[in-house]
Amino acid sequence: MKLISRVTVFGLLLALPLSSMAWGLIGHRVVGEIAWGYMTPQAKKTVQQILGDESLAMATNWADFIKSDPSYRYLGNWHYINFKSGISEKDMRNYLRSDTATDAYTRMNFLVKELKNKTLPADKKLFYLRMLIHIAGDLQQPMHTARPDDQGGNAIKIDWFGKATNLHSMWDEQLIEFQQLSYTEYAKVINHPTAADKTKWQKESIADWIVDSYRITESLYKEIESAPGNKLSYRYNFDHLKTLDNQLLKGGVRLGALLNQLFG
Ligand SMILES: [Zn+2]
Repeated sequence: MKLISRVTVFGLLLALPLSSMAWGLIGHRVVGEIAWGYMTPQAKKTVQQILGDESLAMATNWADFIKSDPSYRYLGNWHYINFKSGISEKDMRNYLRSDTATDAYTRMNFLVKELKNKTLPADKKLFYLRMLIHIAGDLQQPMHTARPDDQGGNAIKIDWFGKATNLHSMWDEQLIEFQQLSYTEYAKVINHPTAADKTKWQKESIADWIVDSYRITESLYKEIESAPGNKLSYRYNFDHLKTLDNQLLKGGVRLGALLNQLFG
């Protein structure tokens, strides 16, 4: 009995970091809340018809909640895409062009294609839209476009104010929670893109989002590799808050534009 329970506990400890919620609840909702503000009346109407009573912001979390149901386990790889260290932009774009793996990029393309089909049954429409609005958020989280050898930063241990966590979770949750804002407050606080940024983000392709996120990923890795003991606190928040807020904002503006393309 004792051995079994120890093995079980050890197994759980190993599994925990990998099942951490992308962007956490608040991050995804911020992306959805901001996206809503950039949508056309027609796109809003269609999205609301699909989602029923649920708001776009609240619907962004569904793809994480279903992870507790084993019948949805096959969707695990849809949330991220990995790249080997030091890949150039050119190689990354080449890779994406011929990508056939089950990852966030190919699944987003699949979802976009399916949602353009006007005769898609209502249940599929809801399922695909819930996945699309979630993965669009994930792709702005730099540790979701990270390296395979450390499971997107899950294996990089961090001491955050004396609490054990990892680099992936830092960007999913710890930094966002540190701000102590509700998702509506957070969206309001950061929703001030310059006109030039807004126009640029609205025009970008999903491949552009990934290239952009990965540029940040590489700098985060480089920085943590040179930080002795990986002990982080106030200074990490101070150094990265702008980047964090900007990624959430980009996510909202980009998702809004994508939904306009699909339903506007
Ligand atoms: Zn996710």
